[in-house]
Amino acid sequence: MIFTNPAGAPELACDECGCRWFDRMTGACYECGAAVSADSRAEYARALDAFAADRARAGAAAAGKRP
Ligand SMILES: [Zn+2]
Repeated sequence: MIFTNPAGAPELACDECGCRWFDRMTGACYECGAAVSADSRAEYARALDAFAADRARAGAAAAGKRP
């Protein structure tokens, strides 16, 4: 599953236990060891792309006000 954090960034969370600690090298949850499905990873990649595009637009609109 995918959460959106308070900053608006997508975060990938475990489908099994809901935690957000993933080993990105193996694609498995640190807590319960569940593998992240390819679907979930693809969805997360899309969410990240969308977030990056949004942030690029916001950054261009608020030039000089980036943190
Ligand atoms: Zn888990």
